[in-house]
Amino acid sequence: MGKGTPSMGKKARSKSHITCRRCGRHSYSIRRRRCAACGYGESKRIREYSWQNKKVNRIRIV
Ligand SMILES: [Zn+2]
Repeated sequence: MGKGTPSMGKKARSKSHITCRRCGRHSYSIRRRRCAACGYGESKRIREYSWQNKKVNRIRIV
């Protein structure tokens, strides 16, 4: 394995986002402790905008 592009996939595998407890998307930031998609941890309201086409699942049925 060299140092070129093919080996870059093994770099920086530390995950920054995990699955969000509220919206179920893989957008919950561990470092910032909030979800990038629904704003979980940031606000009690669901972060949702009319201009976004990816809809946020409100509460996932577990
Ligand atoms: Zn979320």
